[in-house]
Amino acid sequence: MAKFISNRNETIRLFKNPFLEYFSHIHPATPLLVFIPVMILTSYFGIKETGLFTGIVCFVSGILLWTLMEYVIHRWAFHYHPKSETGKRIHFLVHGIHHDYPRDATRLVMPLLVSIPLATLFFFLFKLTFGIYYLNIFSGFVLGYMAYDSIHYATHHFKMEGKFGKFLKNYHLKHHYSDDSTAYGVSNPLWDYIFGTVPKHVQERKDSKAAAVAGKS
Ligand SMILES: [Zn+2]
Ligand SMILES: [Zn+2]
Repeated sequence: MAKFISNRNETIRLFKNPFLEYFSHIHPATPLLVFIPVMILTSYFGIKETGLFTGIVCFVSGILLWTLMEYVIHRWAFHYHPKSETGKRIHFLVHGIHHDYPRDATRLVMPLLVSIPLATLFFFLFKLTFGIYYLNIFSGFVLGYMAYDSIHYATHHFKMEGKFGKFLKNYHLKHHYSDDSTAYGVSNPLWDYIFGTVPKHVQERKDSKAAAVAGKS
């Protein structure tokens, strides 16, 4: 994947098959229409099963679990560089296209043909793993996913306001335009700190602030 890429707004055709081509484009609000009801239903039935307090703890754990998944998928699946031609084609479809055409607005959030099967897989995986707690963990996980996709869209297409909004936009654009081996977290930088992939500009700013504070005291 090229380190310095263009800021092309145009789109390209991905599939000969018109059905696949049609569904490879997606409006950024579509995942919310599908997954907000899923989140509400799983929260409702989950809390019925575990009670409110445990339900909230599970929900927050689910959000945290998503942030880890976001990092793992982006770093080790999306940025894995396969050698075979089929592997390269899959890599391009899954993430390469977003790095080559980062401002293609209808190819930014995950298409439903991918997100629905993935969500179903995680649903049953959580059911097997987390026993009666799985519904609320899944619900938090789904919220984390929606936040990720929406924040990702915003970093490319909106002027983000507030200190954290500006930070996230700048943080993700560094991943695209200066070093794609850092800043794998999109909705937050937590796991970049844990795995040591914070981009230099953020680390240096933090170090110089710390030095300034140490100099004052
Ligand atoms: Zn991006
Ligand atoms: Zn990437």
